[in-house]
Amino acid sequence: MDLFGSDATTLSTDPASIRVATVALERSIDKPGGGLSYAVPDDLADLGVGDRVTVPLGRGNTKADGVVTRMATADGLDFDPAKLKPVTRRHGSPAGMAPELVKLCEWVASYYCCPLGMVLGAAQPSAVKKQTGVTRTTWVAAADDAPTHDDQPKPTKLQRAVLDAARAHAGDPDRPRDPADPLDGWLTLPDLAARAGAKTTGPIKRLVEAGLLRAQAVDTLAGDVLHDADPDANPLPALPPPVLTDAQAAAVDHLIDHLDAFGTHLLHGVTGSGKTEVYLRVIERLLDDDPDATAVVLVPEIALTPQTSRRFQQRLGRFGVALMHSGMNATARHAHWQRLATGRARIAVGPRSAVFAPCRRSAEDQPAGRLGILIVDEEHDASYKSDQLPRYHARDVAIRRAQLAGCPVVLGSATPSMESLARALDFSADPATGPITADLIRDAAPTRPASAGAPATRHHYLPLHHRVPGAEFPTVEVLDLAEERRQRKGVHLLSLRMEDLLASTHAQGGQSILLLNRRGFANYISCPDHNCGWLMGCDHCDALMTFHLDARLPSQGSSHGGGVVQCHHCTAEKQLPHNCPDCSKLVTTFGMGTQRIELELQRKFPRLRLDRMDADTMNSAEDYRATLDRFVNGETDVLLGTQMIAKGLDVPNVRFVGIVSADTALSLPDFRAVERTYQLIAQVAGRAGRAQHRGRVLLQTFNPDDPAIRDAARHDYAAFAARELETRRRSQLPPFHRMTRVVTRHLKRETARAAATETFNALRAADADLKLGARFRPPAPCPLSRVADHFRFQVEVLTPTAAAMQKLLTALRNRGLLISDHHTNVDVDPLSLL
Ligand code: ADP
Ligand code: ZN
Ligand code: ZN
Repeated sequence: MDLFGSDATTLSTDPASIRVATVALERSIDKPGGGLSYAVPDDLADLGVGDRVTVPLGRGNTKADGVVTRMATADGLDFDPAKLKPVTRRHGSPAGMAPELVKLCEWVASYYCCPLGMVLGAAQPSAVKKQTGVTRTTWVAAADDAPTHDDQPKPTKLQRAVLDAARAHAGDPDRPRDPADPLDGWLTLPDLAARAGAKTTGPIKRLVEAGLLRAQAVDTLAGDVLHDADPDANPLPALPPPVLTDAQAAAVDHLIDHLDAFGTHLLHGVTGSGKTEVYLRVIERLLDDDPDATAVVLVPEIALTPQTSRRFQQRLGRFGVALMHSGMNATARHAHWQRLATGRARIAVGPRSAVFAPCRRSAEDQPAGRLGILIVDEEHDASYKSDQLPRYHARDVAIRRAQLAGCPVVLGSATPSMESLARALDFSADPATGPITADLIRDAAPTRPASAGAPATRHHYLPLHHRVPGAEFPTVEVLDLAEERRQRKGVHLLSLRMEDLLASTHAQGGQSILLLNRRGFANYISCPDHNCGWLMGCDHCDALMTFHLDARLPSQGSSHGGGVVQCHHCTAEKQLPHNCPDCSKLVTTFGMGTQRIELELQRKFPRLRLDRMDADTMNSAEDYRATLDRFVNGETDVLLGTQMIAKGLDVPNVRFVGIVSADTALSLPDFRAVERTYQLIAQVAGRAGRAQHRGRVLLQTFNPDDPAIRDAARHDYAAFAARELETRRRSQLPPFHRMTRVVTRHLKRETARAAATETFNALRAADADLKLGARFRPPAPCPLSRVADHFRFQVEVLTPTAAAMQKLLTALRNRGLLISDHHTNVDVDPLSLL
């Protein structure tokens, strides 16, 4: 081990036996072939794929960090291996990545058009890469067989004192001894220096160099922080497991039967059908039966991680549950990661990035662990898709990872994505195969074991049609806001019916959830004069500004109090203007946001205990935890928030769910608008009535006749999905066809447009060459045509298959095109089309 930072390396003298490492640089440009070649010095004999290294780069030999992606001998090289520069192991970074994770990253890099080094960089928390919280202690002891070279300078007086102190300590008869401790009789560097009366550790270092002292570095991860975050340190009382329903039992049996091979299993269970219980049983069985197995559980967004992980800790805490979310402090993240890597935790729970969670590393006394199952809870959730490089979809990466590991992946949802449903039920892109009807979905049978002779399927369907005993579906009322407006002659965010239900729920001791998927106070700042029609837009974006109340600011004459005007697409903030810049009339604010609802509730129901949960009130993971805890413990009566409160929350006393506007997503220029609308309503409605009390849902809308809203009100997923799938199939859209979207952005409109045109032409030429049958939407301004002063243009390409898409994109990448950078954004299987 390199203790004192010397960079001396020795290379093998026989060129043929030089080992060559391919290294992918973290900050690399896109380089097909996976990286650069370096020579491996002899003293790094154990270097392997996945190790983090530092390499010299370019003429100046600037140091760059990377990961080894391949190891080979110099045998087949077509150039002189002696010309290769050497790698060094990154200091203090022994962790590395398992080779199978490197493979997974290679797939991500290729599929999502992202430089490999960047994927490798994103696959490990930076706390792990930086070894946050690790302190290195150097222990020293006198060498048993000290070399006695004549040409060595004689030890100085101070050095002799050091040697004497080291020997005295080792030989001290009164010293407590521990023969099992390999460092028994050793001293830490500062301890030895103090005993010898040395002011610095310099003399000790020189003795180590001369071989008169032995030294050993030991890394420890801060223990106190770990203790705090370590669920094993605070065991929770185990709950008795419920008796499974027949449908749950069938799903559990099916999954246990399929633990040995790759397969995707869509667990389509209505809200409150006990999907989590299915996960728990299967994971328990897996981990009990196979001591080498690890389970990874993905949950959408950090808001939910604490609740889910707590359920896992309560039931499966004995296997060790590691949390992986970005809201934790760096040392805790590193500590949880280490618990997985050392096998102290065998269940990983976390959002998107936890799809890269490690399994146990091999060590002297144990083989490497293996991934035994992957669970993607709420698989339809959009937060699984990363909106920055690498733009991967964690559900799809999970499927790939399961395939590489040869294990099952369970996709759980009450409202499966069209992608997962079409796959599980094997719907064809070809309309000639017959219409997709609601009955086909409603009556789809659970996958049965393949009969003899029938080809084994890899895509399984596991429906849970009913809620667990005691819980009933909530009744849903649809309230026509247009009608309400006519009757009450004015705009009211909360209908009288909504106010009634909130009040009566509270009077009966129940809790309520209120959803409005829009934050801020008012999303229009405008001139009241219809002839003028001024609306306040962002100076830097093609978007309107939103008014946010802030009690700390002076009210400047506004009736609501002080606040700021914000753009939700860039960081721009402004003061609320008094007067219209065009006609000088006093400006007004209108539209809605969670803040306005909060204010209205406080005014009308001063005794309701209310918490607001949205991106403005939740600044840390601790905020989420505290807010959810208060709600779960019954300390708040109403939880108001954006879509983050719609997911997975399981609070038995929630008897009423109010949806302030079901329309927020409907009008977005996005072919998934209908799917999003259905999912959001169904998910938040599913939070009501999860115990004895029948729940109620009130859905306010200006579109009471919209089919998606009607289906959601009737809990009719099958009807919604059948219609949606037919529409997508007719329009040749995902999931039946694959889409990639390239966005070019530039300060100059014409430059952005020209770049989009260039991409479009190259794609079209490659498609004609390879005869892939792609379809294109020619360059056009994005729906959000300017963000942060950058003009944005898009090209969309659709292909009949994923393979065709990969061929097309690879053809361009091989020519150095489609490089994702500041000006180009390549999004494969895009979810956001703004
Ligand atoms: P889902 O994830 O499908 O919405 P959950 O797994 O959260 O449903 O389960 C809802 C509630 O029902 C939880 O409180 C859970 O403990 C409970 N539960 C699960 N299975 C059963 C069962 N078989 N019998 C009774 N209660 C159950
Ligand atoms: Zn802006
Ligand atoms: Zn005006």
